[in-house]
Amino acid sequence: MRFRRLKLSGFKSFVEPAELRIEPGLTGVVGPNGCGKSNLLEAIRWVMGEGSPKSLRGGGMEDIIFAGTATRPARDFAEVSLLIERTADDEEAEGESEVTRRIERGAGSAYRIDGRDVRQKDVSLLFADAATGAHSPALVSQGRIGAVIAAKPVERRMMLEEAAGISGLHARRKDAEQKLRATEANLQRLDELLTEQE
Ligand code: ATP
Repeated sequence: MRFRRLKLSGFKSFVEPAELRIEPGLTGVVGPNGCGKSNLLEAIRWVMGEGSPKSLRGGGMEDIIFAGTATRPARDFAEVSLLIERTADDEEAEGESEVTRRIERGAGSAYRIDGRDVRQKDVSLLFADAATGAHSPALVSQGRIGAVIAAKPVERRMMLEEAAGISGLHARRKDAEQKLRATEANLQRLDELLTEQE
């Protein structure tokens, strides 16, 4: 999977719609202090399904919506879209897809893939299967290198699983276990009904 383009509107300091092309290879973001470099990385993590406002340096998820300045009013929503290109390594057919996440004040987040409403889980799985996601070690923010060095063995294992592209399997296993438990409960109920009939 390759990231091709990032579009932001109302996300943190990016109040006006902004569009960035992401070229092949390593991408670095440079600029003066406070210009929004970390906000860009956070926008990528957010559209991939980041669920923790704290890891986006906020108290609540709505803190990512442009909060206004002395001269500009606050916005009511934020939207980020990431255009991805599926490559031959991906499970799904090759081609482009646009993943969008939008948050409105008081209404929470909604996700779309190519304009179709989807669940957060669908978005997370899409990225997990391509060995990436909101917590991918490939997204190196400030202070992250120290965190990797200081990580506990279980945290390192999670990073390796993410890099190996098997973290999506964990989510599917949890799903399958839940379905299995529900089916077992149904079977038990069926047994009870049959016994009552006899
Ligand atoms: P540094 O190099 O100092 O780490 P940076 O380029 O990474 O800075 P960011 O931390 O991405 O900069 O951006 C900080 C700016 O984003 C601050 O000016 C802050 O006021 C602004 N900002 C953050 N959240 C919001 C918000 N919800 N609404 C408006 N502006 C915001």
